[in-house]
Amino acid sequence: MSADGNESYRACQDCGEPLRGRRDQRFCGDHCRTNFNNAKKLAARIKRPEFLKTIPKILVRNYDILKQLNTSSPTKVKRSKLESLGFNFRYITSCHTTNKHDTYRFCFDQGYLELKDQMVLLVVQPNQVET
Ligand SMILES: [Zn+2]
Repeated sequence: MSADGNESYRACQDCGEPLRGRRDQRFCGDHCRTNFNNAKKLAARIKRPEFLKTIPKILVRNYDILKQLNTSSPTKVKRSKLESLGFNFRYITSCHTTNKHDTYRFCFDQGYLELKDQMVLLVVQPNQVET
């Protein structure tokens, strides 16, 4: 506790555990310091391209749009409805082709099947997010 009684909560920068040592302590131990510094060095060395930030955002937006529209699975919507909400058909997390040669595309557990006449069938498939 500091003299003014206003010490803020501090956590290890690697594992997030609370810190109880010196005020300038940043890690709970050597293991966490090494871990943190190695991860930082690796990230700097490989120079992550911008798409590592943008594509996950697109996938999450696609997921949100599918989830919002799929109120009672399965639901049929117009493809133009998805497009108007900003759905990006280029990005999915998985796909599944049935014996009837229908290809369902998924953003996490939220999926869709493109039908005739610009319609899209929305489905939920929990097994698509099993890792
Ligand atoms: Zn730690």
